[in-house]
Amino acid sequence: MIRRTVVPVGVAALIIFCACSALAGGPGLVGGPSVGNRAAFGSDAQPFIWNPARMPIGYRIDPGPMAVGPSGTVVIDHATGVQRVQNMFSVWASVNTAVLSFTNAGPLLSAGSYTGGDVQTAAQFNAVMGSCNSGQQSPIIFDADGKLIASLGLPPEVIGFNSKCALDTVNGYILTSAIVMNGEFQDGVSQINSAVPNLELTANEFDQAITHEIGHFVGLDHSQINLNTYLQRTFPCDLDDLAGLPLMFPISFCQARKDAGLPVLSSDEEAWISSLYPAAITAANYGTLSGTIFFGDGITPIQGVNVIARQIDDPNTPEDESRRIAVSAVSGYLFTSNPGQSVTAALSKAEDNTNGSPTGSRNPSLIGYYQISVPPGVYTVEVESIYDQFVGGSSVGPLDPPVPMPGGFPKFWNQNGSPFDFPLQRDTITVHAGDRITGIDVILNAIPDRFDQFEDSGYLMDAPVMKLSPPTGDTSA
Ligand SMILES: [Zn+2]
Repeated sequence: MIRRTVVPVGVAALIIFCACSALAGGPGLVGGPSVGNRAAFGSDAQPFIWNPARMPIGYRIDPGPMAVGPSGTVVIDHATGVQRVQNMFSVWASVNTAVLSFTNAGPLLSAGSYTGGDVQTAAQFNAVMGSCNSGQQSPIIFDADGKLIASLGLPPEVIGFNSKCALDTVNGYILTSAIVMNGEFQDGVSQINSAVPNLELTANEFDQAITHEIGHFVGLDHSQINLNTYLQRTFPCDLDDLAGLPLMFPISFCQARKDAGLPVLSSDEEAWISSLYPAAITAANYGTLSGTIFFGDGITPIQGVNVIARQIDDPNTPEDESRRIAVSAVSGYLFTSNPGQSVTAALSKAEDNTNGSPTGSRNPSLIGYYQISVPPGVYTVEVESIYDQFVGGSSVGPLDPPVPMPGGFPKFWNQNGSPFDFPLQRDTITVHAGDRITGIDVILNAIPDRFDQFEDSGYLMDAPVMKLSPPTGDTSA
């Protein structure tokens, strides 16, 4: 889901909140093993993708107009809308290191109470979504006046949303998925009323928001890179920062990438879509970096830390490559967010958490693990917290809400990493095409040693300084 609002920071910047349906930079949905009586969910530790042997991915488009004005006059007609939708899918299909293709399979199929024509009512929408959920079609729905989104109880600032529908949980494939887009953002009216501003989006801004939804449609999660750009919110955004800001960033607030002369996809999306749908030439264009992020004890892996590989700046170009060329992953993105437990879980059937989440692996070696594909070059690797406001549909990675990274400040990888080193000390890593560089591990700073509860009564776990008391009670032999 994508929403927008306007924040008065100097020049009013456009903020588009994405409350999308992704679960977990990287894949949105990861397979998990059989647990208890529950069958496996896809393939263990493998991202859900569309079946590469069944390309192109067919989608079907609402026969109505893309946008109408308040009086019902057509502002963006159906043919123009179809062309724009096809162009948005082409953005993803044109990545030559990924095998991914799409086809417009024609207008929406009839389903239940929906018998064709413009999808306008909640009943028609539900019927079409029912056919998506049963695996019959992947609908692209134009809500030309925004009334459909309103009738679903969604706020008017929702630009659009993606919903995964049917999954092949045996083989780990996405079978159908849906996208809904809100034509009210292109109805030519800049204000609904004084309480509800309805700033128009340009065609490029709107299409970029929906292209983000197509990223979820093909199986991608959100990514966090160049977070400073969002926190500073200077508008227009710095070009180097914008170039490296992922299209899959949870919030869109800068000028449209296309309007800034940039490709719609950042290096992060290019890398991840090529990882999920590799082509024969992918290995000749990417290498991988992998490792594990550890707590300060250097033993215990930590899930939910953002890991960014940045190319170092080339002083011979005017651009800052360290801001522009970066790829991220969240540690533990292949591991389950909820392993479950039976002690307090089974109070009621509704609360039964005995087996935890079906998604994500239970392989403990993946708890703090990350892998990042990057174009050949010289890189640094850094770790940081996922921003604490990226929750719910705007979450990044497996944990929602995210955990603050122990140590509290970003830290770089260096060859002699320890929990006591200077966090900005960094070494570079040269990646050639086809390299698989492992062991880029980071030990976080400034936290107490691991202290298991069975080693003590447990009260020390929150204490900043450990203080051991002499044994009491029966100590006589
Ligand atoms: Zn999103």
